[in-house]
Parts: sequence; C-alpha cells; structure tokens
Amino acid sequence: MEKFIVDGMLGGVGRWLRIIGYDTLYFNTNKKIELIRTAEKEKRIILTKDKKFASNFPKLVFYIEGNNTFQQFKEVVKKFGLQIKEENLFKICSICNTYLEEIEKEKVKNLVPEYVYKTKEEFSICRKCNKIYWEGDHCKYIREKLKNL
Ligand SMILES: [Zn+2]
Repeated sequence: MEKFIVDGMLGGVGRWLRIIGYDTLYFNTNKKIELIRTAEKEKRIILTKDKKFASNFPKLVFYIEGNNTFQQFKEVVKKFGLQIKEENLFKICSICNTYLEEIEKEKVKNLVPEYVYKTKEEFSICRKCNKIYWEGDHCKYIREKLKNL
C-alpha cells in the first residue's frame, strides 16, 4: 500500500487518506528538504499545493489541483489507483496517523458520552492521542461520500 506525506495545505486530504487506511504524515513546514528526506527514507509519496516544489522533484512530489478537500482527495484516489475497501476503513487515527487498537467496552465507560456507551458495543482507541473511536453517524456519512467517488 502506498504511503503519503501531505503538506500544510492538504491536511484535510490527509484525514481522508487515513480514513481509507493509507498511512499519511502531515508536515506543516517550510523546510521542504525535511519532506524529501522523510519521503526517501520511508518510501512515501508527497502531495502538495506548491507547483514549483512538485516540478523540482517530479518523482517524489505531486501537485494536487482541486480546490476543496474532497475534490483533492478524489484526485489522489484516481491518480494513484487507491483501493477503498470496507476492511481498511477506520483503522488509522484520522488525527495523528496511528493504528487503532480495539478496547473493551468497560474501559471506555467514563471516556465517551453516556448515550454512546449505552448504544455501542465496539470501540477502538488511539494510544498516541487517546481518542476513542466507535461506529457512529459520521461513519455512515463517510461511507456515503466514498460511494460517490
Ligand atoms: Zn491519534
């Protein structure tokens, strides 16, 4: 599976890529050389809104045209032939790019809203930022959006 780095202007695309299971780092820096070094070391593809940067490193850096997040995400999916599979969805923390772990329901009792605790059975946690995930209405919304790709 491809791995990515998104630059400062493509944070939203990064979140979408993680949602569909692609390991994506977010680098908000002017030090382009850091992006290049990381991409080379970790075999990552860099996505940017900086045309010049892309033309300077045509094998590593790709300019993304779209003007809104979902358009840009769509462009990346098409360009790299990314797979959207149910079993890969919601496996990576959309905020910090860490693989999620399942967590027992009892352990999240005081960490999620009461109505969520009462109505959901399965939870996962990001061990880095401690965010708890569950199958909620937003997942339905995301699946609908992905159908329209
Ligand atoms: Zn996280």
